[in-house]
Amino acid sequence: MNSFEIYTILKDHFGGVGSWWPKDSPFEVVIGAILTQQSTWTNVEKAIKNLKEEKILTPRDISYVPLNKLKYLIKPSGFFNQKAERLKGISEYLLRNYNGDISLLLSKDKVELREELLKLKGVGKETADSIILYAAEKNEFVVDAYTKRLYSRLGNVEEKIEYDDLKKYITTEIPEELTIYQEFHGLIVLLGKNLCKKKNPKCINCPLASKCSFNLKL
Ligand code: SF4
Repeated sequence: MNSFEIYTILKDHFGGVGSWWPKDSPFEVVIGAILTQQSTWTNVEKAIKNLKEEKILTPRDISYVPLNKLKYLIKPSGFFNQKAERLKGISEYLLRNYNGDISLLLSKDKVELREELLKLKGVGKETADSIILYAAEKNEFVVDAYTKRLYSRLGNVEEKIEYDDLKKYITTEIPEELTIYQEFHGLIVLLGKNLCKKKNPKCINCPLASKCSFNLKL
């Protein structure tokens, strides 16, 4: 089963999820992309809700809030010491280099933007690609743990495939369109959270079950 078929089946099953990443501003994507590292969306949402209640939503707000308060507010997302430092670092970088205006960074050419993001402390490939796809709204496919699990269980790739290899594998099989890139990642997350779970996947309810090598071996 190729990636476009997977996308189509998931879209038929879950419905259109549009640009999927919940956000009120591009910088909120950056906050979410850091907080979601080694965490679940449910816990990220609790941390973002805390920040919103305190009206801490811009690079300036984050760089001015006392570190301990920031740690306390984002605690639900886990690894809060490290994540607070990362959020402060990125916010201070944006203030220093772009007067806090993230749109100036996001408007850069995709390749240049990715290189710059990857130089920031705590920003790896998945985080950078999430920011490019959902904050800058440029075509850069995001691969995460849900994607690796899905593709290896389907039998398409090895479980230990590298980030760039899986990204290339998928993007050669789907049209390079922003809506498809954004929506496909969102659909994979929905599948991973609800059906293709790490433990006890609910294959019986899965729309991909008839073509999944993991399910067929059960
Ligand atoms: S059939 Fe099971 S293992 Fe395969 S993709 Fe669906 S939930 Fe995951």
